[in-house]
Amino acid sequence: MDRLYQQTLVIIKPDAVKRGLVGEIIGRYEQKGLTIGNMKCLKPSLEILSEHYSEHVNQPFFKKLIEFMSSGEVVVMVLEGVDAVDVVRSINGATHYKNALPGTIRGTFALDITENLVHGSDSSINAKREIEIWFRSEAIL
Ligand code: UDP
Ligand code: MG
Repeated sequence: MDRLYQQTLVIIKPDAVKRGLVGEIIGRYEQKGLTIGNMKCLKPSLEILSEHYSEHVNQPFFKKLIEFMSSGEVVVMVLEGVDAVDVVRSINGATHYKNALPGTIRGTFALDITENLVHGSDSSINAKREIEIWFRSEAIL
């Protein structure tokens, strides 16, 4: 299997920010060897969240998910490195807290299906789409 240098989009969700776990979570990605390509802190609008989670618009959990995600500040990051898409998802752990292995972020810190601390893109194509959503129209610094 070829090693692919990739970018992926991570969101540290409002539950993790409120619990003071931002440093702990970023540290886990950094310890693995991924690097931060871009990062910002914001309280997301319903509009940007609906676009980000458009694949789930018809799911019964959609409204609850969007309300939760807009309930506070999040940290949005582009992480870069070898096989970054899959590596981030393995560090995050399974979506459901019952299936998330001990040692993963969700396995260590989550006991709720919605409030599960982190988002990671599920493919390189979705990573590109999500990075465009969250980091377009950046000011020229
Ligand atoms: N989610 C939920 N209820 C469910 C499934 C998912 O509230 O039954 C939330 C959860 O926060 C999850 C997000 O919706 O992280 C997106 O779901 P997805 O299946 O894409 O999981 P992920 O890619 O985040 O592991
Ligand atoms: Mg997903």
